[in-house]
Amino acid sequence: MGYTVAIVGRPNVGKSTFFNRLLETRKAIVDDISGVTRDRQYGIADWNGKVFNLIDTGGFVPNTEDIFEKEIRKQVKIAIDEANAIVFMVDVATGITDLDEAMADMLRRTTKPVYVVVNKVDNGTRELEATEFYSLGFAHNFFISSISGSGTGEVMDAITAAISPEDSAETTNEDGLPKFAIIGQPNVGKSSLLNALVGEERTIVSDIAGTTRDTIHTHYKLFQKEFMLIDTAGIRKKSKEKDDLEFYSIIRAIKAMDEADVCLLVLDADKGITAQDVTIFSLASRKGKGIVVLVNKWDLVEKETNTARDYEKTLKQRIAPFTDVPILFISVKDKTRIFKAIEIALEVYDNKKRKIPTSQLNDVMLKAVQAYHAPVVRGNTVKIKYVTQLPTVVPSFAFFTNYPDDIKQPYRNYLENQLRTQFNFKGVPVRIFFRKK
Ligand code: GDP
Ligand code: GDP
Repeated sequence: MGYTVAIVGRPNVGKSTFFNRLLETRKAIVDDISGVTRDRQYGIADWNGKVFNLIDTGGFVPNTEDIFEKEIRKQVKIAIDEANAIVFMVDVATGITDLDEAMADMLRRTTKPVYVVVNKVDNGTRELEATEFYSLGFAHNFFISSISGSGTGEVMDAITAAISPEDSAETTNEDGLPKFAIIGQPNVGKSSLLNALVGEERTIVSDIAGTTRDTIHTHYKLFQKEFMLIDTAGIRKKSKEKDDLEFYSIIRAIKAMDEADVCLLVLDADKGITAQDVTIFSLASRKGKGIVVLVNKWDLVEKETNTARDYEKTLKQRIAPFTDVPILFISVKDKTRIFKAIEIALEVYDNKKRKIPTSQLNDVMLKAVQAYHAPVVRGNTVKIKYVTQLPTVVPSFAFFTNYPDDIKQPYRNYLENQLRTQFNFKGVPVRIFFRKK
């Protein structure tokens, strides 16, 4: 599922300040997830239990004066096409500018919700001035101050009121079939991989439209197993002008991710691991998705004895701390290991669904606790008494303890590693919680 809100607006109206403020509410929850990194362009917002993707389009506009307006128009167009709702941010200090008018003209044509957010309304005088923006003619108007946070709650209330529980839900599995998404940057070989798999005509059961009209779910049968491959229209039918835009490829990847259980993250072996690869990886892990890394175009790489091993090592350094993921070196061109990739994705899916019986979990994990106790904090001897797996989509474990707040990251890592070594969670983010007992 998944619901995406894009923030559009001129430079300096306060988009990134607003974006950071909205994501703050999520902090407490996010910090419980391993492998957390924060980036300024997109994040996962959470308001009263409603979860949605938030994208700051400003993060994607190249900072060169002359192409500004054209670039911003492109971002707005993509936001209108791809997001579920749009926050149109304007600045009371400057009043309505020509570029605001131009953006408003584009936004008036969409039937999607548009929230006009007048920022920098820091005091009463500015509140009066802000009424100017009613003349843009949109139904939803908000006067806020991103710096103080005043008014941002009302914006969140309005956005989340439009989100249905299914949009916000973590589960995607109505029909019980594993769902895989092929994601990655432009030109890494995603379409080629899809076509190589689709080319095996006999394996296709049917083509089903995705839950949003932008995704196609193809039902496969391979190795006696059935699964769905999710691809976005962008993968199958390439519209070149859009496809190379970073914002476009990210928003499409987020959509495919939201509908998937396991993501096949494709990299280009010839290009090495880029920062964007790492952000896509970390987003999938924050969303609790299973991950298989496919290093494609391996045919182009000159190989010596340790080439694969060295590549894997570098890759793991970049994606740390969540490194317990399968990494496959493939060549779609030579059809090397592409079916193996599916086999591994099926294994990751099984790992993600793994439920460990409570007695077995306690036997194993309490032994691990005995072998290495949590350090004493402020004179408190931390005791872990009991462990249970929570009934969640992402494997989550609650450790009951006398001092939940005194258990620090290194010990959390130790427990996670033990869970991973003792039970197989390869390719799956694992969440650990400490609760008072
Ligand atoms: P962006 O380019 O739209 O992402 O804008 P930024 O978030 O970088 O903000 C541009 C400038 O406006 C910065 O100097 C912010 O500190 C300032 N700013 C953002 N929100 C507010 C606000 O609510 N009130 C005031 N007075 N300044 C703000
Ligand atoms: P996408 O943008 O991620 O969907 O990438 P494409 O599937 O369109 O592939 C981009 C380019 O990489 C095309 O020219 C493909 O022929 C080429 N390509 C894809 N897979 C391989 C591979 O395994 N080896 C080589 N040498 N080229 C590949």
